[in-house]
Amino acid sequence: MKYIHPDYYDNFKCIADACPKTCCAGWQIEIDDNSLNKYSSMKIDTVDYHEQAFFHDNKKRCLNLDENGLCKLITAHGPDILCHTCATFPRHIEEFENVREYSLSISCPEVARMILSTVEPISFNRSEDATLDEEDYNPEEQSIYRLLSVLRDNFIDIAQDRTRTLDDRMGQILAIAKAFQDEIDFVLLGDGEIEDIDLEAVLHVAYKPLDLTPEVRHTLFDAMKDWEYTGDEFVDIINFSEETIYNTTSRKSVDICDMTTSMSSHLSSKNINLDIIMEQILVYFIYAYFCGSAYDEYYFGQAQLSVATCVHIQDLMLAHYINTGSIDLADIIRFTYLYARELEHSIPNILATEAYMDEHPLV
Ligand code: SF4
Repeated sequence: MKYIHPDYYDNFKCIADACPKTCCAGWQIEIDDNSLNKYSSMKIDTVDYHEQAFFHDNKKRCLNLDENGLCKLITAHGPDILCHTCATFPRHIEEFENVREYSLSISCPEVARMILSTVEPISFNRSEDATLDEEDYNPEEQSIYRLLSVLRDNFIDIAQDRTRTLDDRMGQILAIAKAFQDEIDFVLLGDGEIEDIDLEAVLHVAYKPLDLTPEVRHTLFDAMKDWEYTGDEFVDIINFSEETIYNTTSRKSVDICDMTTSMSSHLSSKNINLDIIMEQILVYFIYAYFCGSAYDEYYFGQAQLSVATCVHIQDLMLAHYINTGSIDLADIIRFTYLYARELEHSIPNILATEAYMDEHPLV
C-alpha cells in the first residue's frame, strides 16, 4: 500500500474549547451504525435515532456541546464514545487501488491556520509498505486515477511556480484539465482505450492566463447565492461582499484590479504575501479533490472548482479590505474556513457551483 500525506498532516492538534467555530456547529453529523447501536443501548438522549444524527439547539450547535464548547459525551464517557465522523474530523482518507491519500479539511479553523500561515510551498510525503489492498475497485476508475495523479502532480508543480503570476498558473491548469476532459470524452465516445490518451500532448496544450472580466467574476460570485447554508453568518458575508464589490444597488462596481493591488500592498506591509495565500488554497483544493473526479468523470469541473474557490475567497477578503481599510491573516483564515464549511461538506453546493461553470466555463 502507498500512502500520501501533506507535510503538515502530523502536526494537527484539535484546539477544542479554543476553537472559534467548532465542528459541532452548523452541520448535521451522521452517526455510523455501530455507534448508533451503542448510543441506543446506552439510552443517550441527544441522538435523533430516526435521522441517525445528533440533535441541534436553535443556534444549530450540537446538543452535546457544553457552554465551554467541550463535548459532554467525551467528558462523561471518554473519547471512545465518539462516532466515526466526530472521531476522525478533520481528517479525511480517499482510497484508490493500493493508494491511500490523507488530507485535513480546511473547514477546520486550526487546519486553515496551519495551511495559510505556511510560507514555504506545501510538500507531500509518500511512503509504502507491504500491506495489500483487498478491496475490489472498478478497473477503469483505477486507470483514470493513475492518469489523474500524474496530472495532479503537474498541477501542484504549476501552482507552486512562484516565478509566474497566479493568473498564468491558473490559466495553464485549467487549459490542461480541459484538454484532458476533451481527450477522455473523445476516447470513450469512440470506443477507444484510456491507454490511448496522449498525456504528454495534454500537458503541453497551449494556454492563456486566466482573465475574468468583472461581469464574469460577478456571476461566478452569484453561484454562491444558490447554495444551502449552515447558518446566517455566511449569508451575511456574501450579501455584504457582493454589495461592496459589485455594488448591486447603485450599479457602480469598484475597480477589482486596483483594489486587489492595494490589498496586496497592504498585506505585504504585514509580511503576508497574497499570492502565497492563494497558492496554498489552490494547492489544498487540487490535492484534496482533483483525483476524486475519477468517480464522477468531471475532471475539468473539479479543476474549475479549485480555481473558483480562490476567486470566491479572494472576493470575500477584498470586500472586507474595501470596507474596513485593513485585513490581516486572522481575517483570511476566518473567510477561508467559513467558505470551506459551506462548500466542502455539501454535495448540492459543489454541484451548483460546478453546474454554473459548466454553463460559463472559466476558460
Ligand atoms: S473544527 Fe477543528 S479545531 Fe475546531 S473543534 Fe473541530 S477539530 Fe477541533
